[in-house]
Amino acid sequence: MGSHLSVAGGFARAVDTAERLGASALQVFTRAPSAWRARPIDAAEAAAFRDRASQSGLRFVAVHAIYLLNLATSDEALYERSVVTLVEEVERAAALGAACVVTHLGAHRGAGPEQGIERVVRAVGRALATTRRIQLLLETSAGSGTTLGGRFEELAAIVDGAADDRVGVCFDTCHAFAAGYDLRTRRAVDATLRGFGRTVGRPLLRLVHLNDSAFALGSGRDRHEHLGRGAIGSGLAAVVRHPALADVPFVLETPKTLDGRDDADEVNLRWARNARRGEEGS
Ligand SMILES: [Zn+2]
Ligand SMILES: [Zn+2]
Repeated sequence: MGSHLSVAGGFARAVDTAERLGASALQVFTRAPSAWRARPIDAAEAAAFRDRASQSGLRFVAVHAIYLLNLATSDEALYERSVVTLVEEVERAAALGAACVVTHLGAHRGAGPEQGIERVVRAVGRALATTRRIQLLLETSAGSGTTLGGRFEELAAIVDGAADDRVGVCFDTCHAFAAGYDLRTRRAVDATLRGFGRTVGRPLLRLVHLNDSAFALGSGRDRHEHLGRGAIGSGLAAVVRHPALADVPFVLETPKTLDGRDDADEVNLRWARNARRGEEGS
């Protein structure tokens, strides 16, 4: 369990913050998430991060790919740029010794979901051809417009098409809820996870992004909220405690400020840990 943390001031600094939070999991961007261009990671910096991480209490490090990627688009120039950047992300994650790259899928924009899925499958194949070690996790989306990943069936089709056991799914609770998968009660969480298991396969759920949602079930709108304070509310405690997810890492992507204070990560992690112990949040 841990949080998405900033690497401002250097990659190793994120490990310091994770340690201060008592986190055993960490997710980072290795570059500005809304820019195509990135400074290369130099070898010494990567080695310093790997050393620092291996000496820390971290058991899981994920890299989140930039937001600009569209792996489903039929715009050839954008597609090519997206795939090349995804390959870069995989290489950067490998240099840092991370376990995986998490990516959004993108939108087919009218070309149709089948064609979009086929393009994502090809992109995944090219990204994984560059290294053996890294897993590629496809994130559930809020499912608005023509964005892929809002339906479990779409994720299943991509995972099947990729036919590589390094491909898995990152289950974002806010996105899944916004896409219409209810998580507000223990029963709803059970039904949603059973549906995931039937459609995609439970072992393919390799990471949970634990976020509350600012908007209602099925809204299609992606805005993360502090745990227990959004439209999912105490149902997130049932997610944290769910036996099917006992061995899955959890990364919080909750907002960084709370009621004007800057200890939001502490507060949200405490909520999640209390939930795991069986106390309903904090
Ligand atoms: Zn994401
Ligand atoms: Zn997420």
